[in-house]
Amino acid sequence: MAFGQPRIEYKTNAQMRTMHEAGLVLSRALDAAVAAATPGTTTAQLDAVFRAVLDEAGAKSNFLGYHGFPATICTSVNEEVVHGIPGDRVLQDGDIISIDGGAIVDGWHSDSARTVIVGTPDPEDVRLSEVTEEAMWRGIAALATGKFVGDVGNAVDDYVSSVQGKPLGILEDYVGHGIGSEMHMAPDVLNYRTSHRGPKIRPGLCLAIEPMLVRGSIETAVLDDEWTVVTTDGKRSCQWEHSVAVHEKGIWVLSAPDGGAERLAPLGVVPVPVP
Ligand code: MG
Ligand code: MG
Repeated sequence: MAFGQPRIEYKTNAQMRTMHEAGLVLSRALDAAVAAATPGTTTAQLDAVFRAVLDEAGAKSNFLGYHGFPATICTSVNEEVVHGIPGDRVLQDGDIISIDGGAIVDGWHSDSARTVIVGTPDPEDVRLSEVTEEAMWRGIAALATGKFVGDVGNAVDDYVSSVQGKPLGILEDYVGHGIGSEMHMAPDVLNYRTSHRGPKIRPGLCLAIEPMLVRGSIETAVLDDEWTVVTTDGKRSCQWEHSVAVHEKGIWVLSAPDGGAERLAPLGVVPVPVP
């Protein structure tokens, strides 16, 4: 029975400020992992670099041990979409890798992902990553300007559909989510347009916005390791993600050192630090 139970956890300003602390540690850890993603590096080395930054800051990993996940980041290379497990895989020139990580400070979570092209880029991969990242920022901007969580997916979908050239697919099997005292919470944050407008956007709502785009079909499968999600056609994929807070004065991107100011400015949104 769930009648009357609030499904969404609305955060206080103090809680959101702690989530920003977690987001800043996470941002630095991702900086380090991204810098280490060069040809010849193993994905396990990226995990070690990321983990060292969390340890140094006294932050905990929310990935390590999550349903038994054995690392502090997911490393998803080429046709791997999400949830790739760091290991002996050696990064090759031209690989495209998404690095997805999280951090906990004083019990409050953050979650963010970036995509890196290793060595010499394929222009089509550059386009895939740039469109996915911009789609994420459009979704984040919709949190500031929209009324309902569904406006995020509308903004992502409208932007991706408007891009000239070969169409890119938006994954439907995996979506963004609420975040706070746990990493994955209500509500789901779809990256595509549906007739369901979703819950109202209001202060205290914190969401992980994470569009995942592919160069081919959006069909996915899970490998025998029971984690790694791949495209069934073997085409390349990409993911970008930030954790974002809505408060009474506006929005603030919790996992970005500037709160998202630089990338939101062209979209007409000025983020405001959590009071
Ligand atoms: Mg993530
Ligand atoms: Mg996430």
